[in-house]
Amino acid sequence: MNVARLLDDASVQLAPALGLDKREARIEARVLAGHAWQVDAAWLIAHDTDRLTDEKIAAFQSLLSRRLQGEPVAYIVGQREFFGLNFAVTPVVLIPRPETETLVEAALERIPGERPWQILDLGTGSGAVAIALARHRPLAEVVAVEASAAALAVAQANAHRFGVSNLCCLASDWYAELGVKKFDMIVANPPYVEADDPHLGQGDVRFEPRSALAAGPTGLDDLGVIIAAAPGHLARGGWLLVEHGWNQGAACRALFESSGFSETHTLRDLAGQERVTLGRLPG
Ligand code: GLN
Repeated sequence: MNVARLLDDASVQLAPALGLDKREARIEARVLAGHAWQVDAAWLIAHDTDRLTDEKIAAFQSLLSRRLQGEPVAYIVGQREFFGLNFAVTPVVLIPRPETETLVEAALERIPGERPWQILDLGTGSGAVAIALARHRPLAEVVAVEASAAALAVAQANAHRFGVSNLCCLASDWYAELGVKKFDMIVANPPYVEADDPHLGQGDVRFEPRSALAAGPTGLDDLGVIIAAAPGHLARGGWLLVEHGWNQGAACRALFESSGFSETHTLRDLAGQERVTLGRLPG
């Protein structure tokens, strides 16, 4: 059995099992092999016709069978790229998603580069949003809060991994442990999926922490709490930016307005869906 043959066989199994096209299945097979053998993509190409030891085949097959059971690639390989950084992820945190880069970009556009700025990230999970902001704005000070102790440990490990020193991780259920400190910006990618959304029973999402995804019958339970209490934790002129579901833009704008925010508007993600609503407290 050589490398090319093993990867071909694996993609033939992966495609129908996970509803992938041929190209996606081949990419997944390569990612699994790269992780099983601790080699990069260039090695796989250069060693196409190498005969594999039984040990190498077994290492690959064990990852392949996990993937065939539906386990997300990010959990199998223990990492996922977000905003140009490879974040460690485990099943206690949500897997960072490309649409969340819209939230980071919108925040970065508003954070000055040349002076200190206080940022709060609510429900940081793997720390992806907080760390991306801290890395791109070294003068900013980021507080990342998370209610799950296990998730907070992943965020802390990622902060350490990227050598971020302008970030502090805090165990807190939303604002509960924050005290009187006022922030210049609050960002959040909270749970916002409707509790009975069939999407929760499909694909990668089945393996992710339900508490990071679902938020009551309309998906707005946590967004409602976060938006309503935000003015109490923001300095005058401070910004609030939240990620939400494709169909929650109007509800979020209404919540922002009833909480006293101005300049409220919604941004679309790269797929064209309403994804991030933001607003500013009057100065
Ligand atoms: N966008 C994610 C999904 O639909 C949900 C992320 C979240 O709830 N914050 O799977």
